[in-house]
Amino acid sequence: MHPDFKILDSKVYGHQLVYLDNAATTQKPQCVIDTLTRYYETLNSNIHRGAHYLAAQATEQYEQVRRKVQQFINARYAHEIIFTRGTTESINLVASSFGWKYLHPGDEVIVSGMEHHSNIVPWQLACERAGAKLQVIPFSDEGVLDLHVYETLFNEHTRLVAVNHVSNTLGTINPVEELTRIAHAHSVPILVDGAQSIAHMPVDVQAIGCDFYCFSGHKMYGPMGVGVMYGREEILDTLPPYQGGGEMIKEVTFEKTTYNELPFKFEAGTPAVGDVLGLGTAIEYMEQQGIQQLADHEDRLLRYATEKMLEVEGLRIFGTAPNKVGVISFLLGASHPYDVGTLLDKLGIAVRTGHHCTQPIMDRYGIPGTVRASFALYTTTEEIDILVQALHRIAPMLM
Ligand code: PLP
Repeated sequence: MHPDFKILDSKVYGHQLVYLDNAATTQKPQCVIDTLTRYYETLNSNIHRGAHYLAAQATEQYEQVRRKVQQFINARYAHEIIFTRGTTESINLVASSFGWKYLHPGDEVIVSGMEHHSNIVPWQLACERAGAKLQVIPFSDEGVLDLHVYETLFNEHTRLVAVNHVSNTLGTINPVEELTRIAHAHSVPILVDGAQSIAHMPVDVQAIGCDFYCFSGHKMYGPMGVGVMYGREEILDTLPPYQGGGEMIKEVTFEKTTYNELPFKFEAGTPAVGDVLGLGTAIEYMEQQGIQQLADHEDRLLRYATEKMLEVEGLRIFGTAPNKVGVISFLLGASHPYDVGTLLDKLGIAVRTGHHCTQPIMDRYGIPGTVRASFALYTTTEEIDILVQALHRIAPMLM
């Protein structure tokens, strides 16, 4: 329970809800919900093209959020912030646009073995179109990327690296500064998938040095349907538009169209204005809580939960890297993750089961999937105790 998140008061099958599916999506604080309502009650209007009062107000607030995101991730310019529908669209945007421009037959893109399908399939599509191929960075049993092998994957055909900052399945925090330094030493740009890091640690894109950084609003206490693609100005300027339509053009004739400048070149059509404003409120909310405080809180939960869960008979954790966020993937004996998830659900505990859109990780361990508990700012040690008690209770039933 938390005063800012009414949904956490819910009862599920007569039990108090214990929401531990935060890596899939976080709950939204009341202030974010209020922003969405306020937008539609008082401000709804299409942005950028209107001469009237509401359009001007909506445009101003939308652009203010762009500046807020810029500050939040310490980008150099606000026009390096492109609003999208989420991480998936952000990565597809880069894979398509970068692919059209820079991928040719025989070229290579490096991804890691612990990527979400969203950071694999767009690159496969781009590679298929271009006649290029993927190279994969392996990881250890603990879930740590092998940087030695990474270095050996570069050659004169390497065009881009795409890796996540944090693995949604293993919880590993990857050394993105180091991965970037190595990519740049080979004059190769790097995209970082920040879907699982943005709400769990301070992110500074200039300190990382990456060329692209992508994330989703709904995993950081904001609305669904909105996300961000950050790209360095120098590289964005060289890329062709991803989608054609309104807003992204300067002039259109049937003979030739010229494109708008950044960021509008990449924002075709009417954006999710209310959701962007909600994202701005989510950032303010996180800043009020203190990003480092959130990270410290989740780190304490991770340590506490790891220790307690390992006391459950037959429980195995997948992802034991020294640097982790509050994500614990596990299996109970030989039981199927879905059975564990279903029994926990009946006790009011929401976890995720399955491959978590990371089938290559499951193949790496030779398992069908895992049960995943993931934490957020409102998660408490009492909730972890409830999870652990439930696991003690159900473990003998499944052995
Ligand atoms: N990348 C990672 C690491 C994720 O965990 C997710 C979602 O779980 C995504 C990408 C895709 O995010 P979305 O579905 O919000 O586009």
